[in-house]
Amino acid sequence: MNRRDKKLILKIVDLHANAEEQPILKGLNLEIYSGEIHAIMGRNGSGKSTLSKVIAGHPAYTVTSGRIIFEGDNLLKQEPEERARIGIFLGFQYPIEIPGVSNVEFLRVATNSRRKALGQEELDTFEFEDVVKESLDIVQMDPAFLERSVNEGFSGGEKKRNEILQMALLKPKIAILDETDSGLDIDALRIVAQGINKLTHPNTATLLITHYQRLLNEITPDFVHVMSGGKIVRTGSKELALELEQSGYDWLENNPKIEEPSK
Ligand code: ADP
Ligand code: MG
Repeated sequence: MNRRDKKLILKIVDLHANAEEQPILKGLNLEIYSGEIHAIMGRNGSGKSTLSKVIAGHPAYTVTSGRIIFEGDNLLKQEPEERARIGIFLGFQYPIEIPGVSNVEFLRVATNSRRKALGQEELDTFEFEDVVKESLDIVQMDPAFLERSVNEGFSGGEKKRNEILQMALLKPKIAILDETDSGLDIDALRIVAQGINKLTHPNTATLLITHYQRLLNEITPDFVHVMSGGKIVRTGSKELALELEQSGYDWLENNPKIEEPSK
C-alpha cells in the first residue's frame, strides 16, 4: 500500500507501560496513517485494552519508556481531556453508565468541547438537536435514548451504538474502538459496523480492537496486528485474521515472524 500521500496520524515507538507496578506493555510499535483501518487482535490479557487506555491517557497506567506521537506532537505530555479535544476517541469495551446526566446534554458538552478545539462555534440546545438527529440515523437509534441518563439501563448493543453516536458527533482524528463487537447479536453488530464504515474518512483513521474475526467480515482492515505479551508480534493484511480464526493463536506463537507493513 502506498503511504506517500497519507499523513502519519499516530506513531508509537517502543512503548512500555505499567499498571500497579506490573509491566503490561513491553515494547510496542505501531504506525497509523490517515485513511487506514487497523485491527488489533490477540488473546485475552495480551494488553489490547491497556494499549487503548494508555493512548487515551487513563490514569491507572504509567508509561515507563517509549513514545506516542500524535500528528507530530508528543501525546504523553497531554492530559486525557486534551487528548479527547485534539481528536482521540476511545470507545470503551465496557461503556460506563452515568445516572442523572442526560445523554443529550452529555453529548452536547462533549461535542462543544471538540468543536472548540476545531475552531468551530459551540452549539446551543436547539442547534445541537438538529445535529444529533442526523447522527442518530447512522446508528439507527431511537431519539428516546437522548433523554435517558447516559447508558443507564441500556442493553449491551444500545451502549455500543451510543459509543458510535458519540464518535459520529465528535469527529475524531483517530477512533479507537475496544471490542465494539463484544456482546452484540448479529443485527446489532451489522448496525454498529455499518456506522463505523460510514464514519471512515480519508483524513482520519480507525483502530479496531477485536477478539474475533466476525467484526472484520463487516469492516475491512488495511492491516491486522496480533498482540501477545504486551507487544505486536505479527502484522499482516486482512487474511491474517482469517488464518488466526482457523489456526488459533497457538499457531502464531509457535511461528513467530514479524512482517513489516509495506510502505
Ligand atoms: P486484553 O484487553 O488484551 O484482554 P488487558 O489490557 O485488559 O488485556 O490486560 C492485560 C493484562 O494487564 C492483564 O493481565 C490484566 O489483568 C492486567 N491489567 C490491565 N489493567 C490493569 C490494572 N488497571 N491494574 C492491574 N492490572 C491490570
Ligand atoms: Mg480488552
